[in-house]
Amino acid sequence: MARQPTSRMMSKAPQPTLRLTIDRDALTHNWRALDQLSGPAEAGAAVKAQCYGLGIDECVPALRDAGAKQFYVAHWSEVAAVAKHVPTSSISVFHGPVTAQDADYARQIGAVPVINSLHQAKVWTDGGGGPCDVMIDTGINRLGLAPQELSDDAVQALNIATLMSHLACADEDRAMNARQLNAFNAAANQVQHKRLSLANSAGIALGPDYAFDLTRPGLSLYGGTPRPELEQHIKQVAFPQAAIIQTRQIEAGQSVGYNATFTAEKSMRVGVLSLGYADGYLRAWNGKGGFSHGESHLPLLGKVSMDMVVVDLNQRPDLGEGDWLDVPYMLHNAAQQSGLSQYELLTILGTRFKPA
Ligand SMILES: *Cc1c(COP(=O)(O)O)cnc(C)c1O
Repeated sequence: MARQPTSRMMSKAPQPTLRLTIDRDALTHNWRALDQLSGPAEAGAAVKAQCYGLGIDECVPALRDAGAKQFYVAHWSEVAAVAKHVPTSSISVFHGPVTAQDADYARQIGAVPVINSLHQAKVWTDGGGGPCDVMIDTGINRLGLAPQELSDDAVQALNIATLMSHLACADEDRAMNARQLNAFNAAANQVQHKRLSLANSAGIALGPDYAFDLTRPGLSLYGGTPRPELEQHIKQVAFPQAAIIQTRQIEAGQSVGYNATFTAEKSMRVGVLSLGYADGYLRAWNGKGGFSHGESHLPLLGKVSMDMVVVDLNQRPDLGEGDWLDVPYMLHNAAQQSGLSQYELLTILGTRFKPA
């Protein structure tokens, strides 16, 4: 007979030593700012990859209540969690229907596929069709139909809600932005559609020519600033924190962590913080990272471990076990320091930040 779980086994886990605070007001503010910057166009919201790692249940209701009406995920597997909060017909799936099963699923639940290829156009129509979005590739050479494929009967037969394309270098001042804009304008004349959409977060900052009817911000909703023009409008949304779980005094000549990469020059007090690369605090921070408590900056010592880092507490003898430190996560600065992209910094935040 299987052993019954005892009440002891069933008891609730204690409070975690890691937490991620999502500032919902900042998220609301950011969507509204991006909607305004989109001019007459309406801003949607990219909510793929669990809202860039910050959590569907935390973020989608706030985006919906702020006014967002179009939501974008990458995979079919992401639709159901978003559909708990918004109408399924408002969710578009970037990867599109690759198989007949994808098309069946889309029709059953009523989510909108983004058609990326002639193959996908046929799969969608063969599966019964219905409203869809279409992605045109204007130079990124990733997903999307080539402009010369738009005249194909398989495309002309589609019932297209939003005709879209995606910018490759909107975060930079490159001639490619205008080339893609021109290619998109030319392509828009070749096929019937209700709305046009080109700009991601960075694209919104390129100005009104890029806004069309609908914009698709992701990164900047969550506090990212891919262009300097966005900095005055966008607020930090994600605030990671970790608790000190042990402190110790080390003496001159003693080292810290794997491979002994830090050696103390004098006696010093250090703290062990409950945060490691399994939580998304990667070894990219080795030699550069640090934490804060109030005004104090507390440097990272030695290498990041899977579940821990060691921090210099010399400046703050008042801090000890159970005290919380902030992980500096202003994305623009954190990206410059770590060498990771702002997108990576968000999406790598691990599951231990969000215990069930
Ligand atoms: C992820 C994605 C977006 C959002 O881009 P950000 O740079 O995060 O604003 C928009 N459109 C497409 C096609 C995407 O894949």
